[in-house]
Amino acid sequence: MPTLDEVKEQICEIGRRVYNRGFVAANEGNLSMRLNDREVVCTPSIFCKGFMTPDDLCLVDMEGNQLAGKRKRTSEVLMHLAIMKARPEITSVVHCHPPHATAFALAKEPIPAGLIPEVEVFLGEVPTAPYAPPGVPALGESIVPFVHKANVVIMGNHGTVSFDTDLERAYWWTEILDNYCKMLIHAHQLGGAHRLTKAEALGLVTEKHRWGMYDPRVDAKYADVDPREAPLFRESWAAAGLAARAFPVDANNDPSITIRQSELEAIIERAVTRAIEKLK
Ligand SMILES: [Zn+2]
Repeated sequence: MPTLDEVKEQICEIGRRVYNRGFVAANEGNLSMRLNDREVVCTPSIFCKGFMTPDDLCLVDMEGNQLAGKRKRTSEVLMHLAIMKARPEITSVVHCHPPHATAFALAKEPIPAGLIPEVEVFLGEVPTAPYAPPGVPALGESIVPFVHKANVVIMGNHGTVSFDTDLERAYWWTEILDNYCKMLIHAHQLGGAHRLTKAEALGLVTEKHRWGMYDPRVDAKYADVDPREAPLFRESWAAAGLAARAFPVDANNDPSITIRQSELEAIIERAVTRAIEKLK
């Protein structure tokens, strides 16, 4: 276990990275790291994450009661604690509002799968939780159903939360996700993203398992399921109000085409002419 000083230094360092990458504005976002079974160090409320010193951080118990620190602890630590209680091996949580990933939350567009190797390997399928108001227990309750199958969750109409056994890894999942969402938005502007084949997508899930990284999609019940069709979380989309509009799932088998208006008019004209001929 790292010492209190080491934990505080790490939180300040990741706070600078979160702020400098533009994943939060002003005083947004919050970070936490477990010191031991009973105590968690977290960021203060209403304070810019880019300029924290160890002295600014707070110590809370597993119920969120503040034990030490001159500043008030973030109200969202309750969500961090809910994740740590649901998965006791989790020591670190990063919550922020990265603009590209949050754009997917606002558009209610699920994160598409089967497009980029690194995302399949490091993130796997990314769920979106239904909206819940910040700072109350309901926020943690909206995230907990997903934490056993993912290390990063999009929070409906809000932002992201990522978690792992150390703070840097927890931060990585946010950074990879936001970069991925940025690429998706660019690809969409260029006419759309083309998914890998089912065999290629399945190959990445198997490789991930071979490298010692767990992915629920290697479980027997998903053996022949297409990873591109979001087998883990698709059933949760309706509750979060999601619909795959920009990156439709069935686009794999039903690719879109582009034609000119004059070509469309010619097709319709031919069809109508033929129909009239038949009626004569
Ligand atoms: Zn937030």
